[in-house]
Amino acid sequence: MAHAHLVHPDSKVNLKDVDTTPPKGVDEILVKSETDELHDKLDKLQQLIYAAGTHSLLIVLQGRDTSGKDGTIRVLSTCLNVQHVNVASFKQPTAEDLGHDFLWRINKETPSKGHISIFNRSQYEDVLVVRVHDLVPPHVWKKRYEDINDFESEIAAGANTIIVKFYLHISKKEQESRLLAREDDPDKSWKLSVGDWKEREFWGAYTEAYEDALSKCSKKDAPWYIVPADKKWYRDFCVAKVLVESLEPYKKDWEKALEKIGKKAKLELAAFRHSNTT
Ligand code: AMP
Ligand code: MG
Repeated sequence: MAHAHLVHPDSKVNLKDVDTTPPKGVDEILVKSETDELHDKLDKLQQLIYAAGTHSLLIVLQGRDTSGKDGTIRVLSTCLNVQHVNVASFKQPTAEDLGHDFLWRINKETPSKGHISIFNRSQYEDVLVVRVHDLVPPHVWKKRYEDINDFESEIAAGANTIIVKFYLHISKKEQESRLLAREDDPDKSWKLSVGDWKEREFWGAYTEAYEDALSKCSKKDAPWYIVPADKKWYRDFCVAKVLVESLEPYKKDWEKALEKIGKKAKLELAAFRHSNTT
């Protein structure tokens, strides 16, 4: 079954060529049951990350308003042990944030070994909203792609952080119906924001900014995946599938690390018991 679209390093992304809907003929019931299985696998993989303590995982979520960043986090929180997960939501920078370089607030939220960080928006806002609204001059945001690549390769190499970045790809039409649904549904109306309708007017400028960010910053050790996000059940499947596939290559090493830790603990216990009897 096809799933998220991996952006190959140095390729040029054209978002209109990537579907926002599931491939034709995909069965929703089947996908949902596969997603459940993937969530079980994720649960086990997270236990291994934590117990082995050799790697961390950084999940970056980007997407337009209503694309499902919050929903994705809610779903992931049902299968992950939230004790070892840090969710960081990056909103408009504070005065203190702005007094530092743009990666300062990001750096503080990166995961330590054994842990997972989920970024709801991220360092990429500084080449998205900032670019679309001219919050800094072009020569400033243009340099940031390289800064972001350096930062990501630094944490990948220096802290064994596995980085997986998702762009939740929705259509303009689906965004409209989600925004309108917020007006009709009392449970959702707290999310209503004039800002979302205003941002919608910059749809084309955001498309260009996203295409550049996805094209310039997808690297082997920090890949971007474009997730068809018009259907929530398919979005959740894609995210779970990519995460499992990104973590599974490490499974054997983590199991070995666990075995080693277990052996050492047993030896210490045996020595303790021995010293108690002599
Ligand atoms: P929300 O995710 O709906 O809570 O909205 C957060 C808002 O903060 C969005 O409109 C973002 O574009 C905005 N935001 C996030 N990071 C930055 C940034 N670095 N500069 C300016 N605005 C930002
Ligand atoms: Mg919003």
